[in-house]
Amino acid sequence: MGENNTQITCPYAKKCGGCEYQGMEYERQLKEKQAQVKKYVGGYCKVRPILGMENPYHYRNKVHAVFDIVKKGGAPKSSRGKGGGRKELLPGTIISGVYAAGTHEVVPIDSCLIEDETADAIIRDIRGLMRSFKIKTYDEDTGYGLLRHVLVRRGFHSGEVMVVLVLGDPILPSKNNFVKALRRLHPEITTMILNVNSKKTSMVLGERNIVLYGKGYIEDELCGRTFRISPHSFYQVNPVQTELLYQKAVEYAGLTGKERIVDAYCGIGTIGLIAADQAREGIGVELNPDAVRDAITNAKRNGIRNIRFYQGDAGEFMTEMAAKKEKADVLFMDPPRSGSDEAFLSSAVKLSPKRIVYISCNPETLGRDLGYLTKHGYRAAECQPVDLFPWTGHVECVCLMTRKEK
Ligand code: SAH
Repeated sequence: MGENNTQITCPYAKKCGGCEYQGMEYERQLKEKQAQVKKYVGGYCKVRPILGMENPYHYRNKVHAVFDIVKKGGAPKSSRGKGGGRKELLPGTIISGVYAAGTHEVVPIDSCLIEDETADAIIRDIRGLMRSFKIKTYDEDTGYGLLRHVLVRRGFHSGEVMVVLVLGDPILPSKNNFVKALRRLHPEITTMILNVNSKKTSMVLGERNIVLYGKGYIEDELCGRTFRISPHSFYQVNPVQTELLYQKAVEYAGLTGKERIVDAYCGIGTIGLIAADQAREGIGVELNPDAVRDAITNAKRNGIRNIRFYQGDAGEFMTEMAAKKEKADVLFMDPPRSGSDEAFLSSAVKLSPKRIVYISCNPETLGRDLGYLTKHGYRAAECQPVDLFPWTGHVECVCLMTRKEK
């Protein structure tokens, strides 16, 4: 039995609910995911064996913690310290962790087996500083208090660290001293951002960002390119596996240097920018304006001049392209969990790319969209699942579709 099969048990598993595959051997998890993909996609094409992780721990480069205090007679009564020993938490104790599945009760967590360890340490130390800085946790019911969430992102290759403090109010008392105190404990922090979220909402981030320290973003490397990542931009949470995923995506594209490529749902431009030097020209489209700004900067940052990025709904954008009778040779698409929509897919068919490389984090919606495309002139050639989310039930796939010749 290899190391991957040694199960390290998580003391929070029952209450947290974040890892559906807790207690399951890693090899078994991979089998479950393979079966999941086969179920939805196997009817269309061959499913290659899933690419698992050598060390499926502490892979998450983005860590989010919600802050609260233990209320009198309130729910979270105990936690385990780092050593695993039980300690009682008294009312008034500041806690940070995750919402228990389906509730707004905070499960206190000190360290998590899938999260980046530096990020977890930073969150623990923020908790430790709060009392001396008289920073109160935000109360969702009354709107009283200040600190709601902390988000930490760490560049796997660059080592750059972003800390986002999500506050109910734009004013953080003694903010400069707080930044100094936290940076003294964690000199690896390269930027700190105050995000204002005063709304009654389950969204973590509000709209407004105020830079407290550093550049306001981090950079990281992926497949030989450098990417700037802003607080609101999407970036894959498992950098090691993402490289495998994107390499496969570019391989499936079969580029020769002559193609016009479209990177739809492009986020900060990752896939398009990784593929651009093997294509003639590229177009990226993304809904989130911050991510588009990052994508444009990323093109410049990497000296890539043959790709343009546009902000907008991918479906509308493709509809416009189709109306103008534009063509594309390869379409990369990487929609959110809900998958794509008919406006997008019907226009994709009109653009008539030779290949469609579909990257998906939800085999069910992937299967549904493959159903549409296979009825409209395309053939699914092959699907490669990649385990981006060990211990959870989620699985990522990249699927190649080719145009049926008439
Ligand atoms: N390809 C990128 C991002 C994938 S995540 C990467 O690999 O990093 C999906 C992206 O789709 C997110 O950035 C999200 O903001 C964007 N998105 C969601 N709905 C969209 C829509 N209707 N039109 C365009 N982009 C959308």
